[in-house]
Amino acid sequence: MSYVDEVLERVKAKNASEPEFLQAVEEVLESLRPVIEANEETYRKEALLERLTEPDRQFKFRVPWVDDKGQVQVNTGYRVQFNNAIGPYKGGLRLHPSVNIGIIKFLGFEQIFKNSLTGLPIGGGKGGSDFDPKGKSDREVMAFCQSFMTELCKYIGADVDVPAGDIGTGAREIGYMFGQYKRIRGMYEGVLTGKGLTYGGSLARTEATGYGLLYITEELMKCHGESMEGKTVVVSGAGNVAIYAIQKAQQMGAKVVTCSDSTGWIYDPEGIDVALLKEVKEVKRARLTEYAAARKSAEYHEGRGVWSVKCDIALPCATQNELLIDDAKTLVANGCKAVCEGANMPTTLDATKYLQDNGVWFICGKASNAGGVATSALEMTQNSERLSWTFEEVDAKLKDIMVNIYHNIDDAAKRYGHEGNYVMGANIAGFEKVAKAMLAQGV
Ligand code: GLU
Repeated sequence: MSYVDEVLERVKAKNASEPEFLQAVEEVLESLRPVIEANEETYRKEALLERLTEPDRQFKFRVPWVDDKGQVQVNTGYRVQFNNAIGPYKGGLRLHPSVNIGIIKFLGFEQIFKNSLTGLPIGGGKGGSDFDPKGKSDREVMAFCQSFMTELCKYIGADVDVPAGDIGTGAREIGYMFGQYKRIRGMYEGVLTGKGLTYGGSLARTEATGYGLLYITEELMKCHGESMEGKTVVVSGAGNVAIYAIQKAQQMGAKVVTCSDSTGWIYDPEGIDVALLKEVKEVKRARLTEYAAARKSAEYHEGRGVWSVKCDIALPCATQNELLIDDAKTLVANGCKAVCEGANMPTTLDATKYLQDNGVWFICGKASNAGGVATSALEMTQNSERLSWTFEEVDAKLKDIMVNIYHNIDDAAKRYGHEGNYVMGANIAGFEKVAKAMLAQGV
């Protein structure tokens, strides 16, 4: 049996109750086959794949907090420190009722390769909790964040593990967590990224994931003799990634006609009004029905459905497994040319394969959404220097990083005879650096 198959079997047996983690491992290991085969003896002897698929350590902890009625609530907190071969653990904190250890492990595993692709010295980690910030008061969110950090602060540090935002964790939550870290540890250090601009945050970090997604999409289009100008773009999600993806796509001359949240979606043939979307989602923290109520051209639909809208480019920016095989078939039938993932693993394995087999240019999230964590690494650099760069400086670096990622993954795919398979390219390019570092550092 090949080394990849052996490890896949072992990982499946060991993590049977973690489907998202298994999906992520399968996607990565399948596409690494040619690289593993070329180095099979060394990798097997060093147990490289076993080491890569087992986190360095994982923490699970109780998070008690008091709600506005005086009732004590208990959530579960997680931090998975997956791999620090190339730098301190780095990755976001997801606050969502669906969070469990399998989801955090899949995200942490993806983060290893994503962070490697940025070209910056950051390892892979991820954390979060099953706490749902939706519908909670500011005081309740603060109480949760303080309790969460009271435990988490024991395991992190600017040179150890640097968490950041993800679904449910934005500037407000990072602020409360940073305050608590400082209070307990007595250290003013860059232990979190995505901080506010008045206390060590980086300009352009808020925009970075969405902008980065469009920089790589633009490069992809350019390299296929196309541009963003006049293209119809379909976006899912209405959070931080989606909002700034829509904004940048519009700046590039494309028309974005959809967005979505957990209960429904908007079709706006005149193009999404980003100022209104920000007002509804970021200021009021309300549902998209409010967007539809405030805008004549917008239709609101219950449930899911953005992928049924005819488009040139699709950008899934909501969450994992939101673009399914039937959606992929609809996109292909409607002539969609490119799918670039803004979220982490939004496309299922069979949907990805269908898109690729039918000539759609497909860039996976670990490459196309790497702009967020890349800019987090730039925030870490600025914190270490005790300096802050201008928006233009950070944005230019972000653009360079994304264009480089495109060419690196394109080259890696070509090197192994799979031109145009950017999933393979991303996994190979991300893996090569981590593997070299792990081998160099011994067991
Ligand atoms: N949560 C983001 C991601 O999935 C950003 C992580 C970070 O900035 O550390 O990459």
